[in-house]
Amino acid sequence: MGVTIIGAGVAGCTTGYLLSQRGYDVTIVEKGEIGGLLREIEFDTGYHSDSAPHLLFFDEEEEAIVGELFSEFTDLKHHNFYAKSYPTNDLDEPHDYPVTRSNIDLWEDHEQIRAELDEAVGKTDADYFDQFMLKQVGPTLYERYYEGYTRKHWGIEPDRITGDWFDFKISFPDEEDSFFDGGAFYPQKKYTTILHEMISDCDVVRDGVTGLDTNGNEIRALETESGRRIEDDLFVSTIDPSILVDDVDVSLNYRSMVILGAHVEASERLFPPHVNWAYFPNEYEFTRVTDYDFTPQEIPEDEYILTIEFPCFLDEDMWSRSDEWFEDYLLSFFDDHDIEAEVLSLEARRAPRAYPLPVEEELEKFELINGRVSEYENMHNLGRVSTYEYIWIKDIVQQAYETVDDITARAAPRE
Ligand SMILES: Cc1cc2nc3c(=O)[nH]c(=O)nc-3n(C[C@H](O)[C@H](O)[C@H](O)COP(=O)(O)OP(=O)(O)OC[C@H]3O[C@@H](n4cnc5c(N)ncnc54)[C@H](O)[C@@H]3O)c2cc1C
Repeated sequence: MGVTIIGAGVAGCTTGYLLSQRGYDVTIVEKGEIGGLLREIEFDTGYHSDSAPHLLFFDEEEEAIVGELFSEFTDLKHHNFYAKSYPTNDLDEPHDYPVTRSNIDLWEDHEQIRAELDEAVGKTDADYFDQFMLKQVGPTLYERYYEGYTRKHWGIEPDRITGDWFDFKISFPDEEDSFFDGGAFYPQKKYTTILHEMISDCDVVRDGVTGLDTNGNEIRALETESGRRIEDDLFVSTIDPSILVDDVDVSLNYRSMVILGAHVEASERLFPPHVNWAYFPNEYEFTRVTDYDFTPQEIPEDEYILTIEFPCFLDEDMWSRSDEWFEDYLLSFFDDHDIEAEVLSLEARRAPRAYPLPVEEELEKFELINGRVSEYENMHNLGRVSTYEYIWIKDIVQQAYETVDDITARAAPRE
């Protein structure tokens, strides 16, 4: 029994690994490079960053499966991961992230903010992001920490953003706490090395899938950019489902992102020593900056490996700005904060499908397209791009195990 998987990100590679371990003949078709969103940025100075920070966040009791899987390939180091927010844009005024009640005293109008908090109803169901946050924190904190960030991150108005993720993603603790209640782990090997090892028993075809050759509800073969037909018994897709259907005339929009990776020499560190992530809700065109001193590389003193995230849509100027523009923007940011800096190496990595958009019209389009894809009896789909869900690596690994269980229940490896 053969299975062909479309896409070699963490979704495709995990599924490929689990199926090949169980004796299936696995082919993976990948249009770009192995790793997808997990592929690191390699600097010509010999160092690397992630293509955006990639911690494994999981609860060791309930979600241990992702830890068990990655531990087959590498040690996982527990990391107490702290983040800050800079709502005033001043690096000398770090605020806690997640935003805490103790932050309120940092504001001159703290009495007004406390009065608003007393009136807020706390966590409650709400259809849209602005309603949810206003009910939880009141108007002043909403405006200072969340409103601009949300608009910048998604490129859409917060009163159109919907979903069931608000409650999970947003918390409001009393005091500074590490991210995800301390359940953060970082692999001691590069993600791409791990993913290459996972698929070492799979055949990899470098080609882009453009459509399906079908017979009723049965897929006979994949059609590709180079004109190939890839036949198989079963198929697993981890890519944008609108590529696979030509009888539903809609395409999905995603929020894209230019991720600037930079190896810099600087006169001081950007954030307090225990902090690795920082959010900039207001002034700058980027949303988040990460300092990679938690990775297993020995980074020389006064040098920093950073990524800076610039969300955008594909038709916006940001998407096609030059490396020089990003370098100038980064250096002017350092300059704003009186930090002397020199860029030693830099890459602007582009992720066209970084985030599915949590707005009703896109979710309706997805339902329509997915309804059509689900009619194919020999096709499974999983992963962040393919299921159009705002999910993390731990969720994708869980989906991979479920997909493999479905396939195993349906057909033995050799028939
Ligand atoms: C900025 C940012 C930060 C994040 N941080 C974290 C974090 O800290 N922790 C965490 O758990 N998660 C994090 N995530 C989420 C995580 O990166 C993704 O959920 C995960 O990498 C998605 O994997 P995937 O395999 O579903 O998709 P992808 O990685 O996108 O893989 C899809 C693959 O399909 C290939 N492909 C596309 N079209 C075709 C085609 N037509 N034919 C063949 N191949 C094709 C692509 O080249 C790609 O390799 C973050 C995401 C972003 C954007």
